[in-house]
Amino acid sequence: MSDVKLNLIAGEWLAGEAEIENRNPSDLSDLVGMFAQASADQLDATLHQARRAQAEWATYGMERKQAVLMAIGTELMARAEELGTLLSREEGKPLAEGKGEVYRAGQFFTYYAAECLRQLGENADSVRPGVEIDVRREAVGVVAVISPWNFPTATASWKIAPALCYGNAVVWKPANITPASAVALTEIIARQDIPKGLFSLVMGSGSSIGQRLVESPLVNAISFTGSVPVGKGIASAAIQNLTKVQMEMGSKNALAVMDDADLDLAVSLALGGAFGGTGQKCTASSRLVVHAAIHDAFVEKLVAGAQAMKVGHALAEGTQMGPVVSAQQLSENLAYVDLGKSEGAELACGGQRLEMPQDGFYMSPGVFLNTTTTMRINREEMFAPLTSVIKVGSFDEALSVVNDTNFGLTSGIVTRNLARATHFRRNARTGVVTVNLPTAGTDYHVPFGGRGDSSYGPREQGRAAAEFYTTVKTAYISAGAPQ
Ligand code: NDP
Repeated sequence: MSDVKLNLIAGEWLAGEAEIENRNPSDLSDLVGMFAQASADQLDATLHQARRAQAEWATYGMERKQAVLMAIGTELMARAEELGTLLSREEGKPLAEGKGEVYRAGQFFTYYAAECLRQLGENADSVRPGVEIDVRREAVGVVAVISPWNFPTATASWKIAPALCYGNAVVWKPANITPASAVALTEIIARQDIPKGLFSLVMGSGSSIGQRLVESPLVNAISFTGSVPVGKGIASAAIQNLTKVQMEMGSKNALAVMDDADLDLAVSLALGGAFGGTGQKCTASSRLVVHAAIHDAFVEKLVAGAQAMKVGHALAEGTQMGPVVSAQQLSENLAYVDLGKSEGAELACGGQRLEMPQDGFYMSPGVFLNTTTTMRINREEMFAPLTSVIKVGSFDEALSVVNDTNFGLTSGIVTRNLARATHFRRNARTGVVTVNLPTAGTDYHVPFGGRGDSSYGPREQGRAAAEFYTTVKTAYISAGAPQ
């Protein structure tokens, strides 16, 4: 088929061993496109070429690298409307979120463009007289980027941009559910002044091409975002080759709402945090830990807000929540609704499959009440437009419930009390903590990552990314006496 979108293998756009179709989850009659699936041989070929290209990239001056990253970022930002539309069409998030994501992806590239010029080392005197020490960072080599579908452009960009900035080659295996955004980003990168094969796109399923990629001894580092079971499998594969690994794997984030909170602010943070991106965010507010004194008033407004949310086609005007991404995700979500009810939670609203004029994976935003921390709906990442209210009697109990999870990505508190906000900020066991702000929504110039099952390895984003994408070299220099 002539309009199949291809993989970028060793610098060439190539057809694969098979093709998959990609359909719009808002309207299954809309075929987004056909996408090539890379073969094992193609993967091996591109990994070999990546190694050669990386050596060449290492010789580029820093201004030349900076220009490449700046051009990618500038183009993404300039085309945010067009590429955001494509992203929303294939992933299902409302257009404003799709455009925002592409723009943010551009900012990752422009941020790391500037970082190309800021790679400073350290120096020291040796304990041995006449010897000086120079400590600097070097590229790791070939980096495998494995990204999920929920932020198909932004997540990939916050990995690809620092990988290139710090001098690495990249082999990118995007989620097979969102290949169109991957091809669009790859087309931009491939047009730049980079060595042939420095950047590769290998579309295909995680269990085949993804698994082969993480098992390859030609890969020096793996950056992964996705589910815990897949992450653990990747870590096991990586350790066989002693490959460096960094993983971000979702969470069970809690927003604590105190009795002194601004009620309207708390409700709007909860609605945005729980249902933004159709709840398919690793930073989603899936547990709402609410003080008893404000509980009833909060719940009344929360349920009314959830019921008023306009669910619809991602590209339709006024849509506040799009469909979920796939049939599988929808059926898992509905199974969680049944599970919650069977565990004794009260479904106050939503959680139902919705029929729309067009065939898609629609469901209504759901709120569970009277839930406890031991219920599976409060322990497992659902990745659904579902949230649970847990009633607590005090600030101390709220903090203990927030921390009662195997995950630890983000947490938040809504309060006007400085002492409570400060104590929470210092004692919540998460990598990100927010005060009077949503649990979702982070900046790009500071570290991002979690604790527990949420993350493994060095932090992503900001300057913290250098820890993963570089290795440290300590040089000892004896200059001798001048003649
Ligand atoms: P996965 O963990 O299966 O997928 C994430 C990425 O890993 C995709 O690119 C996937 O490829 C790839 N992958 C899958 N298996 C392997 C493997 N054996 N080796 C290498 N790469 C692999 O997540 P799903 O998309 O299936 O989502 C399932 C659940 O994971 C969600 O419901 C949610 O709970 C969680 N999740 C969390 C995310 C987060 O932001 N932390 C993001 C996405 C999901 P492919 O998709 O092509 O198979």
